[in-house]
Amino acid sequence: MSALLCLVLAAAPLQVRVLERETPARVHLEAARFTCDGQPLPGTTFDAEASIREVKVGDAKCTQLVGEDGVTVSVKSTTRKYEGQVRVSLEGGLLRLINVVDVEAYLPSVVKAEADGGKPAALEAQAVVSRTFAVTGRKRHERAGYHLCDLAHCQVYRGQTGSSPEAEAAVKKTANLVLLIGGIVLKPAFFHSSCGGHTSRASEVFGEDAAGSAVSDVENGKARCQGPDFTWSFEVEKDALARAMGTAPAGIAIEPLRRDEAGRIVEVRVFGKRLGGQEFLSRAGRAFGWQAVRSLKFTTSGETDTALRLDGTGLGHGVGLCQLGAKSLAERGVEVRGILARYFPESQLKPMP
Ligand SMILES: [Zn+2]
Ligand SMILES: [Zn+2]
Repeated sequence: MSALLCLVLAAAPLQVRVLERETPARVHLEAARFTCDGQPLPGTTFDAEASIREVKVGDAKCTQLVGEDGVTVSVKSTTRKYEGQVRVSLEGGLLRLINVVDVEAYLPSVVKAEADGGKPAALEAQAVVSRTFAVTGRKRHERAGYHLCDLAHCQVYRGQTGSSPEAEAAVKKTANLVLLIGGIVLKPAFFHSSCGGHTSRASEVFGEDAAGSAVSDVENGKARCQGPDFTWSFEVEKDALARAMGTAPAGIAIEPLRRDEAGRIVEVRVFGKRLGGQEFLSRAGRAFGWQAVRSLKFTTSGETDTALRLDGTGLGHGVGLCQLGAKSLAERGVEVRGILARYFPESQLKPMP
């Protein structure tokens, strides 16, 4: 990516799809100003409702209703306050809400949601990684016409309501800083909860050219991210496993075909069906919940005719910043630069070019 393109990306506000999970058919909005298809709509509070062909706003009908300069949105029992604009349009009989927000105003909520409760250096590391992720992530929902969603698929974001003074301080202290390779190249920087002792390359896990390499997260024989939920086990019925993977329960249940240097399964055969590691993980998550198979760093044991057990370590995809590892480094006094240097050894912490 050229330095000029980076500049353009950095300057343009983010378009974040918000509150999709709430399936909004009707919302209550408060904002300093409103426009309906570009025309000023007098008033500062409106109820907007999905009708057949447009958004119904009192007596007005709009293809796009826009609240400006800070917008409070209430949907069912959820109320959130967003900086910037909120654009309301119709999608599939429901309302589609897009928050157009500057990157620096978007970040505190993400840092609070993704790295709450750590020392300042851990929050600062999260701020840099999340900023790098956001400015490189504008194509994640390109086909749907926005940049990022507000869920863990991209980064958890709850608007200004979800922020905290500590998260705001971490964003401010690292303002405009991102992870660059060779001083100029900006690539997505990922993060996860706990690596289980070794992180993985984005190229192995997602097939993406990203900023994280694979690094050991063990010090003095102990993983930095070792906490109460470090190891996990999951007992699964073979029938249910086969169903989840879209195959029949015949033959060897789980046969890892390739593991990466972290010990994470990159490719696996389940009852004869070949799957990529991430596909296995997301199918398992959808079928059994996201706390069942928590990572791809696992082995199997206790196999019977009908069931088997998965024993693993870590939580999440294992690429980039290990949040629990970062938290433990910060508790021991390591500063943001030192934390990022461990998980992104090929990157430098630099202002956005
Ligand atoms: Zn997303
Ligand atoms: Zn770790």
